[in-house]
Amino acid sequence: MALPEAGRPIQIVRQHDDHTISLDESALTDLLKRQDIIDKKVVVVSVAGVFRKGKSFLLNFMVKYLRSLRCSTPEAMDEQTWMGDGTDILEGFHWGGGCERVTTGIWFWSEPFLVKHSIEDDVVVLLMDTQGLFNPHSTTRDNATIFALSTLISSVQIYNVSNNIQLNELDILQFITAYGGSALADQEPIGKPFQRLLFLVRDWSHPDDHSYGMEGGGVYLKKRLQVSPDQHPELRSIAESLPRCFESVFCYLMPLPGMKVARTQRFNGQVKDMEEDFRQHLHELLAILFYEEELVIKQHNGQPMLAGSLFDCIQTYVQLFQS
Ligand code: GDP
Repeated sequence: MALPEAGRPIQIVRQHDDHTISLDESALTDLLKRQDIIDKKVVVVSVAGVFRKGKSFLLNFMVKYLRSLRCSTPEAMDEQTWMGDGTDILEGFHWGGGCERVTTGIWFWSEPFLVKHSIEDDVVVLLMDTQGLFNPHSTTRDNATIFALSTLISSVQIYNVSNNIQLNELDILQFITAYGGSALADQEPIGKPFQRLLFLVRDWSHPDDHSYGMEGGGVYLKKRLQVSPDQHPELRSIAESLPRCFESVFCYLMPLPGMKVARTQRFNGQVKDMEEDFRQHLHELLAILFYEEELVIKQHNGQPMLAGSLFDCIQTYVQLFQS
C-alpha cells in the first residue's frame, strides 16, 4: 500500500448551528498566499451535490490523477500511469458509506497542483469539496448558501447527481442562480456570474438511450432542458436561466462503479474492485477536466485571476452571504 503524500483537506468556510457562515482566513492565507503560487493563474474545481453520492470519492481520484500528472504529460497519461496496479487504498477527503458523517461547509485540498496550460504559463489547480445537499443536518437555505458560494468561488462546478437530473436538483440551481446572480449584481458587471457547470450523472443506467461520457451527456442534457410550451414552468425557467448565468454547461454520464463500490461498507477505494467500464470513464473524465485546453481559469470582471487575488475575492463573496 502506498503511503499518503503530504496533503489534507482544510476547511475554509464553516456553517454554524445558527445558520451563519464564517471564513477561516488563516487557513485560506496558508493556502493561497504561498510564494510558489501567489502570482499564478488559478483554476478552481469544485464538486457539489447530494450527500453520500461519491463527491469526496471522486475528488480523491482527482488528487491521485493530478499527482501523477506532475511527472507526466496529459498525452502520456493512461489509466495504468495513475491508477497503478489498482491496489492503493483511496485516501484524502473524508469519504465512505454510512449515513452519519457528512461534509459541512467548504473544504479545499491543501496541495495546489501546477498544471501545464495550452497558452498560459503553468496554472494552479485547486480542488474544493462542498457540503452535501439535502443532508439531514442542514436546511435547504443553508445548503443553497454553501452551494451558491462554492459556485461563485469555483471556475468549474461539478454538480454530482445520481441516476438522472431530477427537478429538485434543478430547483436548487435556480435558487443559486437567482441568489448568486443578485448578490453579484453590483459587484461584477462584466461577464456572467458563474463559469463552467458540469452535471455529472452517476450510475447512469440507460446507455442504450444516451451513451456514457460527454457526448451522450450533451444530448441527454439538451433533451432534459429543452424549452417547450408544454414544459413545467419551473423547469422552463431553469432551462432559460442556466445559459444566462453560466458561461458553459456540460453533462457527463458515468456508468455504475459495481456492487463493491456502491454497497460494501468495507470497500476501501481500490481501483481493482471497480468495473472496467467505470475505470475507463473515470480516466476519460479526469483527462478531459485537466486537459491543458480545457482548464478553466477563474475570472473576475473578465480578467484571469491569480491565487493571491482569489483570497480577496473569497473574502468578498463570504461577506455577501453574511449580510
Ligand atoms: P459524498 O458524501 O458525496 O462525498 O460521498 P462519498 O464520496 O463519501 O461516497 C459515499 C459512498 O458512495 C461511498 O461508499 C462510495 O464507495 C460510494 N460511491 C462512490 N462513487 C459511487 C458511484 O459512482 N456510484 C455509487 N452507487 N456509489 C458510489
